[in-house]
Amino acid sequence: MLSKEFTEEQKEILKKKLKDIEAELEERAVKSPDNIFWKAKFDDFGIEDDDEVLEDEVFDVKVAQIKNLLEDKAQIELALEKFYNGSYGICANCRQEIDVERLKAFPEATFCIKCDS
Ligand SMILES: [Zn+2]
Repeated sequence: MLSKEFTEEQKEILKKKLKDIEAELEERAVKSPDNIFWKAKFDDFGIEDDDEVLEDEVFDVKVAQIKNLLEDKAQIELALEKFYNGSYGICANCRQEIDVERLKAFPEATFCIKCDS
């Protein structure tokens, strides 16, 4: 059984991670008016052909980064929900407790080591 102290610590770490991810997202993207989508910000480097090639490259990199950030964000939000239904630290597959060392290294882990491989 995970101690209450450990669980609380993990919750704080995850909340902080979520904030950091949201800050990064805001740096790279803007939310759609309906608040559902994140759209990559477009950098305007100029109107020369070279500028436009660079703009497209930067934009593509940002789109990929945003995709990763959103995936991380979803996983962290899922982990945070588990604190409220008491299932934090329980493997979503075999229902066994996830190893504490694994949770320390990867607080948003959904599966135990065995089920994740
Ligand atoms: Zn498992």
